[in-house]
Amino acid sequence: MLAVSYDPDAGTLYWYFTEIIAGSTEAEGECASTLLLDDDGQIVGLELELDETVTDADLALALAYPQVRYDHASFVLTVMLADVADPDAQPLSEPAILDFDAGGQLQGSEIQPAKTFGLGERLERLAPFMVDLDADDELPPVGGDGPEVFTLPTAAGDEAEDDQGQGERPAEAPAAEIRSGFVALVGRPNVGKSTLLNALLGQKVAIVSPKPQTTRMPLRGMLNRPDAQVIFVDTPGIHDPRTKLGSFMVEQARRSIPDADVICMVVDISEPPNRMDRRIAEMVRRARAPHILVLNKVDIRNPKGQEFLSAYRELGPWDMEVAVSAILSKGLDTLVDEIVVRLPKGAMLYPADQTTDQSEREHAAELVREQVLRFTEQEVPHSVAVEVEEWAERDAATYIRMTIYVEKDSQKGIIIGAQGAMLKQIGSAARRTIETSLGRTVFLDLWVKARTNWRDDPSSLHWLGYTDR
Ligand code: GDP
Ligand code: MG
Repeated sequence: MLAVSYDPDAGTLYWYFTEIIAGSTEAEGECASTLLLDDDGQIVGLELELDETVTDADLALALAYPQVRYDHASFVLTVMLADVADPDAQPLSEPAILDFDAGGQLQGSEIQPAKTFGLGERLERLAPFMVDLDADDELPPVGGDGPEVFTLPTAAGDEAEDDQGQGERPAEAPAAEIRSGFVALVGRPNVGKSTLLNALLGQKVAIVSPKPQTTRMPLRGMLNRPDAQVIFVDTPGIHDPRTKLGSFMVEQARRSIPDADVICMVVDISEPPNRMDRRIAEMVRRARAPHILVLNKVDIRNPKGQEFLSAYRELGPWDMEVAVSAILSKGLDTLVDEIVVRLPKGAMLYPADQTTDQSEREHAAELVREQVLRFTEQEVPHSVAVEVEEWAERDAATYIRMTIYVEKDSQKGIIIGAQGAMLKQIGSAARRTIETSLGRTVFLDLWVKARTNWRDDPSSLHWLGYTDR
């Protein structure tokens, strides 16, 4: 939802591009901003002066709304909530605060004009978008001015907020009534499997990137409900491998299919099925477990949605289909309910307080790799592996030394950058996300080494941990 909130005590105005879920903000930034005013001095919009570190992918939540535009030349993001042709610009002297979620997506912004500006008297035209700060439960559902979400019959009535994995865990049901099992999330690269896992758990366990083949190892994430433990297995995207690492990844994903109690084939409904979707659907059809077609990215406007939907349906038969937007956390309650009824009865397989099978160290190394993916292009992201060399709890901070492995000296140069600028950028972004994840101050010491063609060298793969667990 697109919404504005006013806190009269603090004199601040919040602009949201998403439902604000407590604790979902992973990082903050600052930028210059300008309020847009109509002839009567009423606020009608906001301009945020971003910079090149904020990518289009980081703005997906914001750009889902027709009221938001981004000018790539000037890096200015404009939110315009009323139809005013030539608004007056009122630059603010205090920087705006930017909130980013675990996936690096801009969630919203907070501005604080000078007291003399009289913020409280200038909010009339924002009324249709205004929500009460404390009335979280009464936020209007998506629809109206929000993104166009086309709903399928199976997802009907699923407008409620999804909140699995958050808040207090309710008391467990008697053991005999608990359902538990493994749910494989499979699909081709980039359809949003890892984003979906994080959204389902309400917590970042998997790294996400707009580049394909981000996930290399299967990763388990546990969702605990009073009546069920759902163990999601996020898998590498199934593709035509060109290296031994690629073959290993595809093999890992393929193997998760026969082991699963429920299989979710995740597809990107904004694109038609391709050859790889057909191959994956065939693997899924051969498995005995129930299969659910998960149509992700319904937030993307797409006039051909119905046509693509029919094409994906034909890849079945499917036991169920559910439309979701992993990025907006829409449709997730329905998806989890449909999964739980298909799980076998049986005791929980993991302790109720464990959310993932990945260690703190593995996750920290992944968070560094995520930033390398974010800041590098072409072959470099695929050629990178990250190893934790040292992890020491010191008085003031956790000291972590990691090595970023690449395949060529030229790639080493790219990662280090002129005067070390790139490595510094990667390091400070990664340090922030690791600090949020660990809840501790971190001193991150990054090194870069070339290890020739490691992706095709069995002993390097083994040594870097790309082996069966
Ligand atoms: P995976 O390779 O299948 O694990 O895909 P990721 O989770 O890494 O996501 C790939 C890209 O798709 C990222 O840029 C995500 O931000 C984006 N993405 C994932 N889910 C959605 C969604 O529901 N809507 C939109 N618009 N983008 C999404
Ligand atoms: Mg992934």
